[in-house]
Amino acid sequence: MPTETLEFQVEARQLLQLMIHSVYSNKDVFLRELVSNASDALDKLRLAKLRDDALDADVSDLHIEIDIDRDARTLTVRDNGIGMSYDEVGQLIGTIANSGTAKFLQELREAKDAAGAEGLIGQFGVGFYSGFMVADEVTLVTRHAGESQGTRWTSRGEDTYTLEPVDDAPQGTSVTLHLKPADPENQLHDYTSPWKIREIIKRYSDFITWPIRMLPEGAGDSDETPEHETLNSMKALWARSREEVSDDEYHELYKHIAHDWRDPLETIRLQAEGTFEFQALLFLPAHAPHDLFTRDFTRGVQLYVRRVFIMDDCEALLPPYLRFVKGVVDAADLSLNVSREILQQDRHIEMMRRRLTKKVLSTVKDMMAKDQERYGTFWREFGTVLKEGLVTDPDNRDAILALASFASTHHDTEPTTLKSYVERMKDGQEDIYFLTGESRQSIENSPHMEAFRDRGIEVLLLTDPVDEVWADAVGEYEGKKLRSVAKGQIDLDAKDDDSSEGEREKQSEDFAGLLGWMKEQLDEDIKEVRLSSRLTVSPACVVSDANDLTPALENMYRAMGQ
Ligand code: ADP
Ligand code: MG
Repeated sequence: MPTETLEFQVEARQLLQLMIHSVYSNKDVFLRELVSNASDALDKLRLAKLRDDALDADVSDLHIEIDIDRDARTLTVRDNGIGMSYDEVGQLIGTIANSGTAKFLQELREAKDAAGAEGLIGQFGVGFYSGFMVADEVTLVTRHAGESQGTRWTSRGEDTYTLEPVDDAPQGTSVTLHLKPADPENQLHDYTSPWKIREIIKRYSDFITWPIRMLPEGAGDSDETPEHETLNSMKALWARSREEVSDDEYHELYKHIAHDWRDPLETIRLQAEGTFEFQALLFLPAHAPHDLFTRDFTRGVQLYVRRVFIMDDCEALLPPYLRFVKGVVDAADLSLNVSREILQQDRHIEMMRRRLTKKVLSTVKDMMAKDQERYGTFWREFGTVLKEGLVTDPDNRDAILALASFASTHHDTEPTTLKSYVERMKDGQEDIYFLTGESRQSIENSPHMEAFRDRGIEVLLLTDPVDEVWADAVGEYEGKKLRSVAKGQIDLDAKDDDSSEGEREKQSEDFAGLLGWMKEQLDEDIKEVRLSSRLTVSPACVVSDANDLTPALENMYRAMGQ
């Protein structure tokens, strides 16, 4: 097959331009990205071999190797992992499948100045392409485990890349960066300096569980096997005591497993001893991913068994409403061959899930007590997801209710907890009132609100589709009913004297003719017309029966195709 020259997809091209002209000052992170990819590739190969012993691949010395050539000004990161097939290279490297990146580019176009752009690059991360921050040409040679033919990919980061088959590619992948000309002004960014490489690896990739080796310069010149140096300590952070590990180290692990460039909001450690021993290191991200509510959002944490990576996205370890939690769980007593199907039914896994769920919820609770601002960020980003738990996890319902906060007529911007709502309830008010709708504004303009506003009764303003569902499922909080102000008859004046009752009856009689006529006219669409005391300004409003679906819920079910 001859060399193919292919065009980068539009988004990929934009991203590359950005990297080439990068204003991002922390260019060192390109190495973290390449090492992170190499480490993933080694994990994948180890696993593939475990699943299929017949796979033609050598797993006896899995490692990452960094090779510097000062004269040629190249830096090579090599792994003997899973590798990529010819088609995969085109798909994975030539296009941007990750839709988060599209969002990133969009925001970038909107960022007016260089400082804004820099902030964005720091937040999004661009994986493999970050090599173009420091190199004017990148060559990748790879061979997929079990295949005989390899592939060479080259690009100068402009509009095209080339692909060609190679016959003698070793197992795994090597990425060679042809570094940009040295900047005599800035020795700090000399990536041909072993000292510099050592420093970057120590800072960003120390916890990587595979050895990252560096060959001494000119090692390839003689026939003897060169003495290499291992740059990382390979210590699993979750197995080390809290005092031994710095926050920065935890954050780097988070960035590696979450493929996020930003620091996490919170780090959670759990060491479970006893009959079923496990260690967990979980992270609450600081930002909700854009695809959290899509069907193909990958959830779950990494599962290790005694320091050996077993699988990504192990969904059995956390309930769906905690799908944004990232991290590592290392279990002592599972089989290395454990499969997803087995995990779903395993009693121990079930126990672990319960412990982990409680731990995450109690961490958020602590955050709420100790750091309102952080809790506020958390709830803004993940509250909507967490509320799903009110419906799906009755065991933890009270714990989740205690963590939840809601917009309310009490304050324009500050949300309230149910506890504070109850503390503010008026004398004689028995229930907790809420109204659901598409936005705060549309709810506040609803005629249902009039009587409540007039009487100064607080109403929770719920705008997430899930609010309909949980409010119904939960029913009450601390003995107080949760009641939609749009449903059934709400008699706000029940505590007033009896005369109002008699008055209403009389009014009903007086207006019987009008009500009957209205009912006739609207017969197709309504069940009943009645006089109401809940309106003060609007002449009429539509309410649903206490047991009916509310309009938002109807919409939601319709959207789900039911
Ligand atoms: P991400 O790692 O977030 O998926 P990257 O841009 O870093 O994004 O890499 C894109 C994809 O290219 C990876 O998901 C992986 O499938 C593939 N890839 C990159 N580097 C390697 C490697 N060293 N070995 C095997 N596959 C790789
Ligand atoms: Mg990557």
